[in-house]
Amino acid sequence: AVPVALVAGLSRAAHFGVLIKGAGPLETMARIRTLILDKTGTLTDGRPQIVAIDSHDGMSEDEILRLAAALDQASKHPVAQAVVAAAKARGFVLPVPSDVAEIPGEGVLGHVDGQKVVIGGDGFVSSRVGGRAGDHPAMTAGAVLVAVAVDGRMVGHLVMSDPLREGAGAMLDGLRREGIARILLATGDRADVAERVTDGLGLDGLRAGLTPDQKVLLVLTERKRGPVMMVGDGVNDAPALAAADVGVAMGARGAAASAEAADVVLLVDRIDRLGPGIEIARASRRIAV
Ligand code: ADP
Ligand code: MG
Repeated sequence: AVPVALVAGLSRAAHFGVLIKGAGPLETMARIRTLILDKTGTLTDGRPQIVAIDSHDGMSEDEILRLAAALDQASKHPVAQAVVAAAKARGFVLPVPSDVAEIPGEGVLGHVDGQKVVIGGDGFVSSRVGGRAGDHPAMTAGAVLVAVAVDGRMVGHLVMSDPLREGAGAMLDGLRREGIARILLATGDRADVAERVTDGLGLDGLRAGLTPDQKVLLVLTERKRGPVMMVGDGVNDAPALAAADVGVAMGARGAAASAEAADVVLLVDRIDRLGPGIEIARASRRIAV
């Protein structure tokens, strides 16, 4: 049987909107030393707004957005949903894409109006049109960069703002006080973008341009140092959440696959519940042993 103190801990955490899936994860949570955070939708708000559309090849901004949004209708990625919403807000009627393939966390390929469209991270799209990633100039703080290619040419970039969640800095300070010794960021986005967004947070490390598999590798490497907690929101984070000692999913707006793979689900859309969650785990364990 599970000690009463642990049951009480699970229940207290649930009141905070932290759903812990059993006594095992609760106990492990009390021992976490390293925290790995996903960027988009986890550390950031994850409801990006388009702030600029940069055309590289003479295509109009409206046409870049229309083709990108038509294809992104096929994706549930938070960036994709924002692209579709922006196009609809401009009154575009979006054609239904065909031959669609999504590579989770990287981007989407398909056909729109007989043209081959690729949308996604800079590295992903560049690699498919034989271009170089990183050609796009530096941008403002708190941004997400989405590349768009049509018929084998890089036609433009959507520059989107995606600010940090409220209280992100205070939360990280609190976690350090709870004994988390090492805090890393893991993102599928570009390094320069991630650096700007997280500037001033005092992270212990930043790994960018990661595929879902590379996020898993990072978790496994970090586990050699001690118990690792990984927090993520996307379908692309699910394997890394499963590979961590404790996987935490952003449950309120995150992908169902991430909530299934996780040991802990944040039922409220607030990452700052992590600190209280860990505090409760520590307190329950002290009482139980
Ligand atoms: P993170 O790891 O920070 O949560 P993701 O790995 O989910 O970010 O996404 C990384 C980048 O890939 C995004 O910033 C975006 O440029 C791009 N991306 C991924 N999927 C899509 C999509 N469906 N539509 C547009 N861009 C996408
Ligand atoms: Mg994410």
